[in-house]
Amino acid sequence: MKYYIMFGPPGAGKGTHAAAVREKYNLCHLSTGELLRAEIAKGSELGLHAKSLIDKGSLVPDSVVEGMIENQFNDVKGVAGFLLDGFPRTLGQARDLDAILAKRGEEVTAVISLMISDETVKQRIAHRAAIEGRADDASEETINNRIKTYHTQTEPLIEYYKAQGKYHEVQAEEPTIEQNRAKVLALMETIEK
Ligand code: AMP
Repeated sequence: MKYYIMFGPPGAGKGTHAAAVREKYNLCHLSTGELLRAEIAKGSELGLHAKSLIDKGSLVPDSVVEGMIENQFNDVKGVAGFLLDGFPRTLGQARDLDAILAKRGEEVTAVISLMISDETVKQRIAHRAAIEGRADDASEETINNRIKTYHTQTEPLIEYYKAQGKYHEVQAEEPTIEQNRAKVLALMETIEK
């Protein structure tokens, strides 16, 4: 099985480009953000607890997202692999993911990193807020906290995966989605070879 990680700051296009990659390579797209939003919509206890953290722009506890990811690894059948979007987001999650995969005799295949500046993060999220109506896209304070959380907790993963020789980066600042998607798909082709 293949285990790809779609990496990058909020608004980099992880979910958008994951759709094309998933389809081309028969992968299961797993977005921890989407799984959490589904729990909130259901009104589950997990969702209620997660909502207050998500609305502030903070991360939910590692154990919560790891449990959701492991359940999906167990349940999803008939795919060539998984495309993780928004996970891992901390060094603890990255180490735990390695352990979860090692138990299955597997490992991370590659990290596809979408890089954009903080300024572009703000513009993209403002644009998405108008379209998708996500509560955590609407407040400037929350967006700033998500950017800070990305730099302090998530960015260190770049060095972690570089050290494993698994890190691949795309500058995802092209003016159109199609141009950025073409760069992501071209990178995937070189990795899959
Ligand atoms: P996303 O849709 O990936 O932007 O995620 C939305 C929010 O869900 C994040 O700002 C976090 O509050 C929470 N979240 C998503 N993925 C994770 C994760 N791997 N670890 C902790 N919190 C997460």
